[in-house]
Amino acid sequence: MPKYIFVTGGVVSSLGKGIASASIGRILEAKGLKVTIQKLDPYINVDPGTMSPYQHGEVYVTEDGAETDLDLGHYERYTNATLERANSVTTGQIYNEVITKERKGEFLGATVQVVPHITDAIKARIRDVTKNKRCDVVISEVGGTAGDIESLPFLEAARQFRHDVGRENCIFVHLTLVPYIRAAGELKTKPTQHSVGTLREIGIQPDILICRTEKRLGRGMKAKISLFCNVEEEAVIEARDVRSIYEVPLMFKEQNLDAVLCRYLRIEYKSGSLHEWEKNVVAKALHPKRKVRVAVVGKYVELPDAYKSIYEALRHGGIANDAEVVIKKINSEKVTKSNVAHYLKDVSGILVPGGFGSRGVEGKIKAIQHVRENKIPFFGICLGMQCATIEFARSVLGWKNANSTEFNKKSSHPVISLLEEQEKVENLGGTMRLGAYACNVKKDTYAYEAYKSEEVMERHRHRYEFNNKYREDMRKKGFRISGLSPNGKLVEIIEVADHPWFVASQFHPEFKSKPDRAHPLFREFIAHALAYQTEHGVILKPNPAPAEQPDEREKEGAEVPLEA
Ligand code: GLN
Repeated sequence: MPKYIFVTGGVVSSLGKGIASASIGRILEAKGLKVTIQKLDPYINVDPGTMSPYQHGEVYVTEDGAETDLDLGHYERYTNATLERANSVTTGQIYNEVITKERKGEFLGATVQVVPHITDAIKARIRDVTKNKRCDVVISEVGGTAGDIESLPFLEAARQFRHDVGRENCIFVHLTLVPYIRAAGELKTKPTQHSVGTLREIGIQPDILICRTEKRLGRGMKAKISLFCNVEEEAVIEARDVRSIYEVPLMFKEQNLDAVLCRYLRIEYKSGSLHEWEKNVVAKALHPKRKVRVAVVGKYVELPDAYKSIYEALRHGGIANDAEVVIKKINSEKVTKSNVAHYLKDVSGILVPGGFGSRGVEGKIKAIQHVRENKIPFFGICLGMQCATIEFARSVLGWKNANSTEFNKKSSHPVISLLEEQEKVENLGGTMRLGAYACNVKKDTYAYEAYKSEEVMERHRHRYEFNNKYREDMRKKGFRISGLSPNGKLVEIIEVADHPWFVASQFHPEFKSKPDRAHPLFREFIAHALAYQTEHGVILKPNPAPAEQPDEREKEGAEVPLEA
């Protein structure tokens, strides 16, 4: 039977529970343990696929085609776990399942209730995540904050789960905030105490506290939290703000969190090392030799989470090239013919990400025209590839009205259109082309140069495709199709031959990039951006990572004072 870790959050949201869960996964994997990480999300949507990026940030897609929370992206970037549909559970899915059963009469006349029917369904989903596979530790992150109405059924299910499997097989990790009050010059533990109190009211005593803080906690502070929250002192873990999110596993290991987890879960203690992670990821992220600026031209650039995996994958491309990647975020709605050169004057590459709907599309097309004509490295993803196709059709083939039928149903040259099977789709949720599909890569192309393989698997999330009617005409003018589905029917990667690096994919490579194994297309994009920069003489100097500033009072040997 696997061991179980529940990760809950308190005080406020956005404390980085996803990164904490992923980092716990990383330090356990370093001990040779096989882990999986699951997200339990309290909203009523069946999945985030139908939510706007304003509501939810990026929708992360798994290999088996589930549309999930972006935290699953952190889990896959930090660990080797392959996540599937079962790793993402929402209130919507649970109620859907229970109500469907009720309609079939499967509850034998019972009154169907939150306890036990909803909680039983949640417990089944926690067990099912390891069905048919070997796994030593299951980490289940409960979305939301302790005290929320929505997350109660999940917390109750987790409480019961521990009762069912025994204390030695299941523990609770609670992430809280220890705010620093500048005016008083003090760190405050009261919110943490209250949040632990809230959990206790529903029968959960956390075993480990991870405390987010801007300042060092110091021994005295840890002792105080330990005493008032009833948690062993060595189980109070400080989670200071760090320079790179990839430092978090190192910070946890330094405080022996891995040893504490193993002791509580009765896992035979093996000392593991994060040496490779430190050398290949953290050291390179903090001490890059070069620096390059690339633009992301999208509709949601003001939201930090809307293109999460893309931003991370660009950083991975930087790590692979020993370079810091500075991302200039450009709102595609603002880009016009007259200002595009101004917007793009100081970048060495541009990336146009995925998206839905016509807003901002014309700006993306203008930006692509500029970089194609001026031979600046270009990387298009999903809608980015579709825009590149439209741009080429309009500017090079002279089809002024070329478009995707998503934006103009009456276009005389619908170079991007719906497949027949998509024409019939009525429900929006979960009906796109989703998940991993094979793609054959043609030799002597930029894509092959990157992958060095003729067959790759990549993840999709879209309805529209390249319209094969226009393949030959466009090919003749230098539009290169470098990736096709194995049956040859779907265009998966396109390039412009007469250009230093112009590559766009119908799939989303960003979902498969890891900090220590950058996705080949991101690695090459950054390599070519660096080459462009060298050629054009705009050499940027990397900023040395700021040395960690010891707290003023610590320098003098004193501890940060506690509140009364
Ligand atoms: N809107 C486009 C489609 O549905 C592109 C989707 C995307 O970029 N993820 O095909």
